[in-house]
Amino acid sequence: MNEPSPLFETYARADIAFDRGEGSWLVDTRGERYLDFGGGIAVSALGHAHPHLVETLREQAGKLWHTSNLYEVPEQRRLAQRLVDATFADKVFFTNSGAEALECAIKTARRYHYAGGHPERFRIVTFEGAFHGRTLATIAAGGQPKYLEGFGPKVEGFDQVPFNDMDALEAAITEETAAILIEPVQGEGGIRPVPLQFLRDLRALCDDKGLLLIFDEVQCGMGRTGKLFAHEWAGVTPDIMAVAKAIGGGFPMGACLATEEAARGMVPGVHGTTYGGNPLAMAVGNAVLDVVLEEGFLETVRDKALRLKQGLASIVDRHPDVFAEVRGEGLMLGLKCVVPNGEVVNELYANHMLTVPAGENVVRILPPLTASDEDISIALERIDAAATAVSARRGKEPSDNEEL
Ligand SMILES: *Cc1c(COP(=O)(O)O)cnc(C)c1O
Repeated sequence: MNEPSPLFETYARADIAFDRGEGSWLVDTRGERYLDFGGGIAVSALGHAHPHLVETLREQAGKLWHTSNLYEVPEQRRLAQRLVDATFADKVFFTNSGAEALECAIKTARRYHYAGGHPERFRIVTFEGAFHGRTLATIAAGGQPKYLEGFGPKVEGFDQVPFNDMDALEAAITEETAAILIEPVQGEGGIRPVPLQFLRDLRALCDDKGLLLIFDEVQCGMGRTGKLFAHEWAGVTPDIMAVAKAIGGGFPMGACLATEEAARGMVPGVHGTTYGGNPLAMAVGNAVLDVVLEEGFLETVRDKALRLKQGLASIVDRHPDVFAEVRGEGLMLGLKCVVPNGEVVNELYANHMLTVPAGENVVRILPPLTASDEDISIALERIDAAATAVSARRGKEPSDNEEL
């Protein structure tokens, strides 16, 4: 695929194209099978072609796709109610993507203070290493120079502080601060879980200063960490939360959840979307929830996660010249590399396994939440083999030859 492409040149794509998938596996256009432990970046949480999702989509596709938010959408109300019943939230707004869920979260936080007579409180504190999307506001929130460069003035109103630094955070809060925005586990930033105590301290700080706490659970939510949402591990709740990626299992959708109080400024006419929450998306979203909320599902995720993490830890021990550590929660795991992470990702392509690079020189391991024990064993074998190949190429032997 080296001919000139009619597409924007914004992506550095691997030279692989997939034709179909089933469970944890993808088949490329040449018929080669790949173990998908990237999930299209934490999206395909129920694997590929999950029978319940396929059946739901087929049935809805023959019935009704889109009507817009000019009318009632019963499946939208139903999905919102189920999310409300399962979380801290009272209100839900559906979007088509993660960035749009964040845009809604940011707007909700600003409008909250506006509605309370404090329009001057519009600033939002974010954290180094954050990723919140690629719209103009969300690149400002993420604060990464490489995503901001060349796009004109940075959207006003975002103040960034170092990760896990309470003193810096307190110093950044002013009379203009509206909210604190944080991913409970940083994804793009390199699978960095925020210490649970820090999340609790954030809640206390927000309560103390009248700030809204916004969690970005676009990547770590929807069962990924073994709880429906990652913040549940800390035992605290946000005022507003952005969700996307796994919420549609591959169908593009997102959601912004909020308490009734936090959503007080989001009155008729102030926000909207044409596609968001349409019948086709909502049917799939409800089908995803059917599976994730099934009795015992999240417990199984936690069991698998433990096995995978232990396996990865022993691979790290065996290959200290390739890996520095394994980190993350549940099935949101990262291998911090000693060699450039791209080398490991490429070696895994050669071993027919898909992973995703992240910041801090990390390789992300994001299996479907439905991965079988056998899938996990195969993944561990392939990662071990890739590490052996990477060390051999670098002219070093693995630290010992212990078998997996
Ligand atoms: C992927 C991601 C986003 C952006 O989602 P898009 O659907 O790409 O707009 C926002 N926040 C986090 C934490 C993400 O991982």
